[in-house]
Amino acid sequence: MNILVVAAETAPYAKVGGLADMAGSLPRAWQAAGHSACIVLPLYGTIDVEAYGIERTEHIIAVPMGSWTEFAEIWSGTLPDSDVPVYFVKSTEYYDRPGIYGYHDGFPDNDRRFIFLSRASFELARALGFRPDVIHAHDYHTAPCMPMLAIHYRSDAFFAQTAGVFTIHNMAYQGMYDPLRAMEFCGFDATSFHVGSWFEHEGAFNCLKAGIMFADKITTVSPTYAQEIRWTTEGMGLQGALQTRGADVLGVLNGIDTDEWNPESDVHLPVPYTFDTIAKKDVVKRSLLKSFGCLDDVISHDLPLVGMVTRLTDQKGISLVCDVLEGFVSADRLRFVVLGSGDSRYEQYFRQLSTRYPHHVFVGTGYNHPLSHRIQGASDFYLMPSRFEPCGLTQMFAMRYGTIPIVRAVGGLADTVEQYDPISLTGTGIRFDRFSAQDCASALEQALKLYRREPHWSAIRRSAMSRDFGIGRTADHYISVFSWALERHR
Ligand code: ADP
Repeated sequence: MNILVVAAETAPYAKVGGLADMAGSLPRAWQAAGHSACIVLPLYGTIDVEAYGIERTEHIIAVPMGSWTEFAEIWSGTLPDSDVPVYFVKSTEYYDRPGIYGYHDGFPDNDRRFIFLSRASFELARALGFRPDVIHAHDYHTAPCMPMLAIHYRSDAFFAQTAGVFTIHNMAYQGMYDPLRAMEFCGFDATSFHVGSWFEHEGAFNCLKAGIMFADKITTVSPTYAQEIRWTTEGMGLQGALQTRGADVLGVLNGIDTDEWNPESDVHLPVPYTFDTIAKKDVVKRSLLKSFGCLDDVISHDLPLVGMVTRLTDQKGISLVCDVLEGFVSADRLRFVVLGSGDSRYEQYFRQLSTRYPHHVFVGTGYNHPLSHRIQGASDFYLMPSRFEPCGLTQMFAMRYGTIPIVRAVGGLADTVEQYDPISLTGTGIRFDRFSAQDCASALEQALKLYRREPHWSAIRRSAMSRDFGIGRTADHYISVFSWALERHR
């Protein structure tokens, strides 16, 4: 199958969250299974073209934007550790800026930047002679590919049999734009935009809704989230659209790259380990504490280490962490390490706490890939008290590293973390249901009771490490979805 992946992020080139991981690891898995995948990504100014061996091709594509035409160079590279081609759309005007989306509200021309990317992906495929069986678009940024396929390209022989599959990684980001601008940039007839039309939600052009309404199949990143968004307010106002497309909405659980996230071969850890040598995890923990400036006498005072690697946003339940953390650290019951950036309120809160408890609270800010690996390896527990969580990857990384997740049982967290049962000695983590500081604190209490307490400590770490969250299963599931989507066009 020929699969054209179009996304605003792909690891390792441009990453903000889990979207980038998936946009990179799925094509790698499809290619390994004998399919032909290629990725389309903007050539952001932050991408180091030399380090990744990205080169200019001879192709310059003409991209229709409304009643005029714009041009872009195509650059190409190969996804590391694979032979998946990655095609970069180079437009200095749109993408040569610091950052992917811009701060806070985003760049003011994000509508134009991502509509351009969506349209360019078709022109690029044609220019390269890559006839896709499936165009796989991710999140609101490239959702316009779905109506573009239906409206502009269905009658084009090159795309006549191409199916459109749209994957939602997060309902909270919908791409709501001025309809006059967006309809024009997309080249759609302005009269097609009206209240109740497939583009419209609350008076705005809504990219996510258009993606949902025009795609052949719509997937989201876990089965539980697929239900939540249809039937609860997690649908963020688009429940109606999702129910209309109900028969075509599926949950495909995300997976992780088990080669990259492997404590046995992780180059970022000071020592490798497996379950049989899990005592070495203490070496990783000591080394992390040392890197945060702890002296030997502090390190030798053993306490459970609770880690987080996260965007610091309300979604991630950071307010609960702020409510409960100080109680535990002031009582000398745990240490806490967080790597994250986002809401400056939260960054400041953690910084202040680490000033007051320098032997207990450690904070890393900014994007730091090696440190994210070291925190997974060093921590005893991994905290994820999300308000909502489409899937979440970091709890899966944690389990692979024998780091016990403490999660709120929503979305993908409910699908991936099994409550530990001290009678049968089964389960992989600690779950709680209500979004409340009290429930979060009692989940932490439960977790701390397991720390170094046998037979529980070995049992839960063994179960967590033996779970298979490999991307291969996810990649196969998508191929089935693509085959169903193609049935409409064959
Ligand atoms: P989301 O996509 O909602 O942010 P996920 O758990 O699906 O959450 O994916 C987050 C990804 O981003 C993971 O790969 C995680 O390790 C990574 N990540 C988040 N924050 C940072 C950071 N500050 N530095 C390095 N990696 C980070």
